[in-house]
Formats: sequence, structure tokens, C-alpha cells
Amino acid sequence: MNKRGMLIILSGPSGCGKGTVVKELLSRRDDTVLSVSVTTRSPRPGEVDGTHYFFRTKEQFEEMIQRDELLEYASYSGNYYGTPLPPIEEWLNAGKNVLLEIEVQGAQKVMERCPDHVSVFIAAPSLEVLEQRLRGRGTEAEEVIERRLNAAKEEMATAERYRYYVVNDEVELAVQRIETILAAESMCYHRMK
Ligand code: ADP
Ligand code: 5GP
Repeated sequence: MNKRGMLIILSGPSGCGKGTVVKELLSRRDDTVLSVSVTTRSPRPGEVDGTHYFFRTKEQFEEMIQRDELLEYASYSGNYYGTPLPPIEEWLNAGKNVLLEIEVQGAQKVMERCPDHVSVFIAAPSLEVLEQRLRGRGTEAEEVIERRLNAAKEEMATAERYRYYVVNDEVELAVQRIETILAAESMCYHRMK
């Protein structure tokens, strides 16, 4: 039986550990790919264009919006972030699961536009732990950290819109929880047709 892949939305506040969990998950599954987003933010040290993000100017990003090349996009912490549409349908048809690691406004748009999605909210065990992780990562200036922490409180309030809620207390446990979700979702009757 040729099954279509699943479109998986993983969202949650900055610093909760989405990137860490996704990296581990992808290293274990060759049936799942990560959608590389477009952003107008500057690359962090070590980030590579086309691998971590497609780094583009604001003008280039706005042209992509005009040309309808994005599945969704959002303005977050002073920059644009968006999901390129063309590769997604191709991967799904090839039977690959596609992971979107995106913030909550974009997640909401995908939930509305693609009803057959699997949505997972990832949370840190507490706001205190979230703050420790954001600071511990050491990739943002203090002002950006403050902005992201403020956004986190509002983002946490959107968790009820997701089908699944995964606490990232330990990376291994969080990955196992997501694998359990994927295993169950892949057996949904409507996916067998
Ligand atoms: P996000 O992608 O959600 O912004 P990251 O994956 O960059 O978050 O994680 C933020 C920081 O927290 C990183 O320094 C990462 O190593 C750390 N981290 C992630 N998950 C855990 C965990 N379960 N326990 C402890 N530290 C974690
Ligand atoms: P960061 O700057 O830390 O890489 O990302 C900031 C936030 O933007 C994170 O919550 C991340 O998940 C989100 N993000 C990354 N790519 C996209 C995207 O394509 N669309 C949306 N809406 N959010 C994204």
C-alpha cells in the first residue's frame, strides 16, 4: 500500500527545545524530512544557508509572499519566517512525513489550510526552565531573550489548539513521545485509503 506522508506541525516557545528534539528525531527516521524555512533574521554562527534556513532580505521575502510561494509565514521577534510551499506536496506524495518546526501564528495558519495535519505543542517543564534554556543557549542578545520570553507566555496559552502536548523534560523522553504519536497517527484508518 502506498501511503501519503503526514504533515507534522511542531510548535512551542523559543527555547523549549524544538530544534534539539527535531534533530534527534530526524537522526532516527528516514521516512521523515524537515522543511527548511525562509527567514529574514541573520544567521547565527555555524548556520548555513539552505541547511538551517534560507536566509533572505525583507524585499526577497516579500516577493515570495507576492508570488504565493509560502504555505504560511509570520512575523516573529522583528523578522519574517515562512515555509516554502513547492517541496511539501512532492515529499508527501513520495510518502515522506514532513516536519514543520514553526512558531504558533504560522502553526495556526497551517492547521486552517491543511486539515489533515498532525499538530504537536512542545513545552519546557516550566517558564523558569525555558528561561534557563534560552539564556544557556547563548545565541541571543538580552533584549531578544526578553522579547522571546514575553512572547512565550502568550504562546503557551495557544497550546489547547494542538492535538498533542509533549513536555520536553528530557530529550530522549520527548523524542519517544513524538515517535509514539507518529506510530499511532500512521495507523489512523483514513490514512490507509
Ligand atoms: P528551540 O529550537 O525550541 O528554540 P533549542 O532546541 O535551541 O530550542 O533548545 C534551547 C536550549 O535548550 C539549547 O541550548 C538546548 O541544548 C537546550 N535543551 C533542549 N532540550 C533540552 C532538555 N530536554 N534538557 C535540557 N536542555 C535542553
Ligand atoms: P529562531 O530565530 O530561534 O531560529 O526561530 C524563531 C521562531 O521561529 C521559532 O519558534 C521557530 O520555530 C520559528 N520558525 C522557524 N521557521 C518558521 C517558519 O517557516 N514559519 C513560522 N511561522 N515560524 C518559523
